[in-house]
Amino acid sequence: MSESTLPGHVALIVVDVQPDFMPGGALACHEGDAIVPGIDALLRARRYRHVVATQDWHPREHVSFAANHPGQAPFAQITLHGQPQTLWPVHCVAGSDGAALHPAIDWSGLDAIVRKGRDARVDSYSAFRENHGPAGTRPPTGLVGWLRERGVQEVHVCGLARDVCVLWTAQDARALGFRAGLLWELTRPVTPASDAATRAALAAQGIEVLHA
Ligand SMILES: [Zn+2]
Repeated sequence: MSESTLPGHVALIVVDVQPDFMPGGALACHEGDAIVPGIDALLRARRYRHVVATQDWHPREHVSFAANHPGQAPFAQITLHGQPQTLWPVHCVAGSDGAALHPAIDWSGLDAIVRKGRDARVDSYSAFRENHGPAGTRPPTGLVGWLRERGVQEVHVCGLARDVCVLWTAQDARALGFRAGLLWELTRPVTPASDAATRAALAAQGIEVLHA
């Protein structure tokens, strides 16, 4: 990618760059803090006409928290609404410091924030749609309409985590009719061993690996 400003039909989605996902945080991603300076530089460069950030933003009684399932430990797998669900440590409680947009990034160029995971009954990885809910459907966040009304046809995704919310966001972008690219160096996984599977999933779905 060049250093010039990108065409107006390309949007940047910055996923879940929040203190709880940093090393030492409630749900740390491997080397999660390594991407902070690069994302800050990318936003300061004003290369994208449209910039959206997501925040994981949960009520304390959220269904994804292992603490809300007696006898279950974090990272256990259960079935929820007929789908596999990982149970997580308590993280990104709405309004907490750990749920803030990362304080070392200049967010002043941001156009919109999508707060996801606010329904206590449903987990939410993708910026576009929550995970499967009680009705068996994936409730939309409204981001598709927001982007389409601005003429966006292509999205570039960075942030955390490479193997969970970033991947789901890029996959949904493709499934919902956008071209999609993943800014590989500006992501980090929860589990580094997942990288091969992530690359395979990206290739299978026509999601470009980009280098900022
Ligand atoms: Zn979450």
